[in-house]
Amino acid sequence: MKKRYSRLIRRLVLAAGILTILLIGMQVMTQVQLNQMTGMAKVINVAGRQRMLSQKLTKELLKLRLNNQFEEYDIDMIDNVIYEFEGAHYSLLLGNKLRGIPEKNNKEILQKYQEIKPYFLEIIDSAEAAANELKLGHETDHWEPMLEEILKNEKQYLKIMDEIVLLYEKDTSDMLHISTVSHMAMNLLILLLSVLAFWRIVYPVSIELKHGLNQQYENAQNIRKMFYNLKAGVFLVRQDGMVLFQNKEAQKLTGVNEEEAHDISVIQHVKWMDLNIVRLFDEVKQGKVVEDIETVVEDMDGVNRTVMLTIASTTHQKEEALMLSLFDVTTQKRAEEELTGKVNRDELTGLFNRHFLDLIMQEEIERAERYEIPLSTILLDLDHFKRVNDRWGHPVGDSVLVFTAEVIQRFSRISDYVFRIGGEEFLILMPHTNINGAVTAAEKIRKEIEDSIHAIAGKFTASFGVAERCPGETFRMLYKRVDDALYEAKNSGRNCVVKSSNPCNGYATIGLKWKKSWECGEIRIDEQHRELFRLSGNFANNTTFHEDRDKAVAYLEQIIQHVIDHFEYEESALSKIGYQDLNRHKKIHGESLKKSE
Ligand code: GH3
Ligand code: MG
Ligand code: MG
Repeated sequence: MKKRYSRLIRRLVLAAGILTILLIGMQVMTQVQLNQMTGMAKVINVAGRQRMLSQKLTKELLKLRLNNQFEEYDIDMIDNVIYEFEGAHYSLLLGNKLRGIPEKNNKEILQKYQEIKPYFLEIIDSAEAAANELKLGHETDHWEPMLEEILKNEKQYLKIMDEIVLLYEKDTSDMLHISTVSHMAMNLLILLLSVLAFWRIVYPVSIELKHGLNQQYENAQNIRKMFYNLKAGVFLVRQDGMVLFQNKEAQKLTGVNEEEAHDISVIQHVKWMDLNIVRLFDEVKQGKVVEDIETVVEDMDGVNRTVMLTIASTTHQKEEALMLSLFDVTTQKRAEEELTGKVNRDELTGLFNRHFLDLIMQEEIERAERYEIPLSTILLDLDHFKRVNDRWGHPVGDSVLVFTAEVIQRFSRISDYVFRIGGEEFLILMPHTNINGAVTAAEKIRKEIEDSIHAIAGKFTASFGVAERCPGETFRMLYKRVDDALYEAKNSGRNCVVKSSNPCNGYATIGLKWKKSWECGEIRIDEQHRELFRLSGNFANNTTFHEDRDKAVAYLEQIIQHVIDHFEYEESALSKIGYQDLNRHKKIHGESLKKSE
């Protein structure tokens, strides 16, 4: 494309150059020819006048002879005629710039001037002699022979002069012919060049132009189409929010078609459910980049859609504008929520699962600890469930589990978490509930289960353990106590609620919480101390709960490795700052490690 363009430009420059040279040449040629023509016209004029002058000379002398008297001015006139006649002759022969007569004689004309020379000289000499006689006041018979001499030569002179004029005229017409031909040739050349320029420049340029314009139009149309059909709502708006363009998807949000869209504002006509759009516009105007804000808008059918909003600055017809794109992520959002729900929920009953318990328990315990709010748990296990399975089969057993889950949920609060943590074992985590509340709730559920009748399995019961968390108690310990209570309930004849009787004392020390006042100021050492607390907390909270010895060993090894790394770093940091008690500190470190072995 670029190569083609530069080739055309080269041709254009070349053609313009040649055309300019041709036009200047033609102008110069015309000027030269005009000058030549003017010169020739003058020559013909002067040559023609010679005839008239020679005749005037004889006519004046004949008049004087006839009258036989003359005045002073008659002699002057004869002198003048002789002067002009002679001067014109030599001007024609040799050229005279002053009189504007060019030397225009070809060989033929020069030949004629040779022929005419004796007659001319005779006429001039005789005329001068006659004039002298007249000036001396002599009678006619003194100058009459001279007149005779003039008359004798005049005839021949006039004949040859006529031939000279004819030759001059022929010369002029030849020149005219050359001029016409050369002008025609020049015009033809210009015409040819124009045709060539049209063929090789104008035509290809027009084709390229047409092609380019078509392509540009096509591109613009395609981009417009693409924008229009984009699966995201796109608005082009002025800085005050007035819509300049909206696509099909955006139409679903404003409920206004494209023609009417120019009278609306994206601030008022899009229903932003949880976004301060006016403030956001202000921020964008101040240069803030807005990318991927997740927000909710209500569409024209009143449906809430979760959208990813991006606002970018742009220009429209040289004015500042904003491009808003709202990408509908409702489906993804729903799928995401569903997926998260699935991961955290038990497939059979829809209750929360063990995995979710692991996720939230630490947070719940921390909250209870920090705000000193009670937290209770109920652990329940269906009685003789094996029998249900044995008698009615596994699917019926399953439906009893679902049935039980519904009962538990119906009788627990929104703020309670209900988990299925094992086959037919359920756990209820009850924030803001003390032991008495938890026992009451457990009793209510127990009663409800006892009273309800499953369509196939009929009556069935469950046993309950209940415990309230003590201050500083970890989940592992709490679970242990509630499990013990359940065990007790099973041993007490089942279908009953047993409150944990185990003492809290001794468990509280395991709650590990880092205090800000312990920080020494060295960022990395403080970080390592905090990490040690976290690892120890992990160990305390997880190991016995899972009753997995290997896991406990792994946690311990992790802690010991961390301690070794930490001691090493701490010692080097202390030695760098010249800590006085370094050796004693090192000794303590060494002894601690030895104990851990
Ligand atoms: P008890 O608790 O009263 O001492 O007696 P139990 O019969 O309930 O005893 P246990 O807890 O040992 O037995 C639980 C049974 O629950 C074993 C297993 O067959 C059954 N079970 C575990 N998970 C499921 C399940 O998802 N569906 C069904 N249908 N049965 C299950
Ligand atoms: Mg069980
Ligand atoms: Mg059981």
